[in-house]
Amino acid sequence: MTHLRVSRRVVPSVLLLAALVTGGCSPEEYVAPPPAERAEVADPAAAARTLTALQDALDDPDAAAALGADDASSSLLAAIAENATALRLSDVTFGYVTETGRTSDEDGWDGLVAMTWRFDGFDVASARAEIPVSFADGGRRIAGIGSDGGRLPLWLTGPAAVRRVPGAVVMATGGDVDRYAGWARTAVAQTRELLGGRAGLVVEIPDDTAALHRALDADRGSYDAIAAVTAPVDGSSAVGSPVHVFVNRAVYDDLDPVAGQVVMTHEAVHALTGATAARGVPLWLLEGFADHVALRGLDLPISRTAGQVIEKVRRDGLPKALPADTEFDPSTSHLGSVYEAAWQVTETLVERRGEQALVTFYRAVLDGTAWASALQRGFGWSEADLTTAWRRQLGVLVDMSE
Ligand SMILES: [Zn+2]
Repeated sequence: MTHLRVSRRVVPSVLLLAALVTGGCSPEEYVAPPPAERAEVADPAAAARTLTALQDALDDPDAAAALGADDASSSLLAAIAENATALRLSDVTFGYVTETGRTSDEDGWDGLVAMTWRFDGFDVASARAEIPVSFADGGRRIAGIGSDGGRLPLWLTGPAAVRRVPGAVVMATGGDVDRYAGWARTAVAQTRELLGGRAGLVVEIPDDTAALHRALDADRGSYDAIAAVTAPVDGSSAVGSPVHVFVNRAVYDDLDPVAGQVVMTHEAVHALTGATAARGVPLWLLEGFADHVALRGLDLPISRTAGQVIEKVRRDGLPKALPADTEFDPSTSHLGSVYEAAWQVTETLVERRGEQALVTFYRAVLDGTAWASALQRGFGWSEADLTTAWRRQLGVLVDMSE
């Protein structure tokens, strides 16, 4: 449920072939191959022509397939063209950047390609990333995409199922795409009901956790324990950069329908309100507000929506301060109770001045107003006042559940 903080490394592995090229030599006969030999293989102009041809073939899967070096890469390129059409991608460009190493094919090499793409009707600006691409046949064919580590957008990984519902597009390389499309449709409707706006939601569902980490260029394991994350598609935190919801099927597939909807609506609030690009907004507000929207229409027992924070207060006593940003780290042990505590802060505010006052406060802080002054203006409270009222609210919940 986090919205992140994604590392931005591209790590092309450089293959060291010198020893292999001269295999069989005795040590004293060893001669390092001249650097010029590498330059003879990599042909940037040929690679650029092939990439332009692929760009032009995105509406023609057969033409895209013809650029593949073998059956596997031809199938991949055809799938990429089909995905680009189904997703209505625009501003798709492939620009050759550089060679990063040699492949086992004597006419081939690994390179980096600067790509841009945009989900038409959803993304305001294009995503940009440098993606590893393997070239073959002197640069006239493509042997693979993303084989070298680094970021790998989902639409470049193989055949994807695409569903369009009002307000959302959902892409899946595995799992029950229709189930997720239903959640996405409701998530957008619930968010718009309270916040208005016409922004749409893009949900990406990789087949497995490894593909999720590749799509986010995240360290392995970072997202193992979460159901979904709202994140910039290319790692950029600039305002306007495309932000999508990414699903971790290993966790999400096991959620019941109600929990599945709560998670999707929570993430939709992050995505549709530009929460990932916001600066200086306390996480208790971003996370608490997202849960407020996700839970407001539901009649769930408090044991389910606040059971973990009630348990924590019973064990450790009432918290002394509002949840700190550091407490929302996905690796902390009591993450559930922190989210519930944050949600209770927003419910305390609703209790004070009503839901529209909460929405106004959220918008003002996202737009750059210091939260303490927005709190004073909207609720007549200092941080200390809010903390006191919130602690009282938590105390009431604990008493109620006894
Ligand atoms: Zn969240």
